[in-house]
Amino acid sequence: SFDASAPTSEQALQVLKNVYGYDQFRGRQAETIEALLNGHSTLAVMPTGMGKSICFQIPAMIFGGLTLVVSPLVALMEDQVMALKLAGVAAESINSSRHRDENVATWRKVAAGEISLLYIAPERLMTERMLSALAKLPVNLIAIDEAHCISRWGPSFRPDYEGLTRLSDFFPKAPIAALTATADEATREDIAEKLFPRSADGVRQGKVIVSGFDRPNIRLTVTQRNDWKKQLLDFVEARRDQAGIVYCLSRKKTEEIAEFLKEHNIRALPYHAGLDSGVRAAHQALFMREAGVVMVATIAFGMGIDKPDVRFVFHSNLPANMEAYAQEIGRAGRDGAPAEAMMLYGLDDIRMRRSFIDNEGGDEDHSAREHKRLDALLAYCEAPTCRRQSLLVYFGEEIEPCDNCDICIDPPTLKDGTVEALRLVEVVESTGEMFGTVQLIDILRGLTHEKIKKYGHDKLPCHGTGKGTPKEDWRAILRQMVAANFLRLDIQGHGALKLTSKAVELKTGALRFAFRPDVMGPSELYRPKKA
Ligand code: ADP
Ligand code: ZN
Repeated sequence: SFDASAPTSEQALQVLKNVYGYDQFRGRQAETIEALLNGHSTLAVMPTGMGKSICFQIPAMIFGGLTLVVSPLVALMEDQVMALKLAGVAAESINSSRHRDENVATWRKVAAGEISLLYIAPERLMTERMLSALAKLPVNLIAIDEAHCISRWGPSFRPDYEGLTRLSDFFPKAPIAALTATADEATREDIAEKLFPRSADGVRQGKVIVSGFDRPNIRLTVTQRNDWKKQLLDFVEARRDQAGIVYCLSRKKTEEIAEFLKEHNIRALPYHAGLDSGVRAAHQALFMREAGVVMVATIAFGMGIDKPDVRFVFHSNLPANMEAYAQEIGRAGRDGAPAEAMMLYGLDDIRMRRSFIDNEGGDEDHSAREHKRLDALLAYCEAPTCRRQSLLVYFGEEIEPCDNCDICIDPPTLKDGTVEALRLVEVVESTGEMFGTVQLIDILRGLTHEKIKKYGHDKLPCHGTGKGTPKEDWRAILRQMVAANFLRLDIQGHGALKLTSKAVELKTGALRFAFRPDVMGPSELYRPKKA
């Protein structure tokens, strides 16, 4: 269905038109496809619904031969195979829900070269028998769907996926397409590390392409919480007859707040996992069907809810981390029309989230990592410059200031902090980008405790140069430097701070740094107990 002599980018467009009936690629689909067609293993990170499948299906058709698609869920596999068959593509799946005879018949077709995409579960693929049978076939591409399942950093780790680490040894010529909707920087690194091959000189191969997290129609606002019921009521009353979601932390709160809003003639309903399933379904149906319903919910609400005209998402507390926040606000404005995300946060939120993490009972590495993820969200809350920029930088995307967040619309009064920022850059650099907030600030403040002496940090020229600035201020400045992308928090490396290209520009004098003095809180709240 395409002209094989045309440049690959044109072939890809032809397939998009002929097979799928779409006129153009979305986001960075084209770039992902191009990278794979050029033989580069590629990790594509895109939100759900952006069209990840096309990114490997089109190269599969252009390459010819066999493409293996690893997918964790039988239901997902069956859906995709069905859709491909309808579009006239030879796709099949081998999985445990099928009768043995069916799987055997499918395998025969695969072996005869009649199938172009074979969907298979990881545990079936990684058996010696399957691998040696596949070695005789022209496997030209391997796609790993839900690739985050390979990472122990995330909550969806699947031991079955870990075996896939050996794939690039078995099929050294086939590029690997890894796809996921949920991957922060640490997880992305981990996926690439596990799946992508290394060249002879040990350099890791492969590309990471992140896209589509920008939802420019959602106005972002973060405000300190004071009289929060009044803040909520004012917000909702100004948006009467609009559908919205109000997130609360506890089941009890959702009921209390729904009641409170009802007293003020708002059509509010509670939703949480503790409600009777009939009640839950009824509330959900009302929300979906009728205009202007406000759902007051715990995070149990939202999964699989696809209501295009949700006009606002109101967080009455700090969400768990950036991923959760992005996902939760992403439920607003799916129709592309203006929508709002409002978050209230206060110091008690920070205290509470810290203790949630400490009481979660994971190992120490796990909680250290979770504390760092929370730090990234705090940096977002205190961003001195465009909020959307700081949100997207976390997901690996860079954009211009958005004009649609509270900071862009009404910039806070900033204080020049270039001198302080340069001190932080210096201490990060002179300690080899290997240390976290606490140590860096202790060095600047001239402390001489054991960990400072052990590394010889008391001998650094920058030791003690920041004595004049209180610890809390240093922490706020550092968080804001992270939010503004002058420093990068390496979550995988236990929260070590790294320099970015903006830090380099700071040093050359090409950029200055300004910070918000208004958001500096008691420092002990920002520090994980077991740092
Ligand atoms: P994901 O796996 O990212 O959730 P899918 O691959 O299931 O997304 O695609 C979501 C929907 O978007 C599908 O209906 C798909 O056909 C459609 N789609 C994908 N790419 C495009 C495109 N370039 N133009 C229009 N629709 C597209
Ligand atoms: Zn902005």
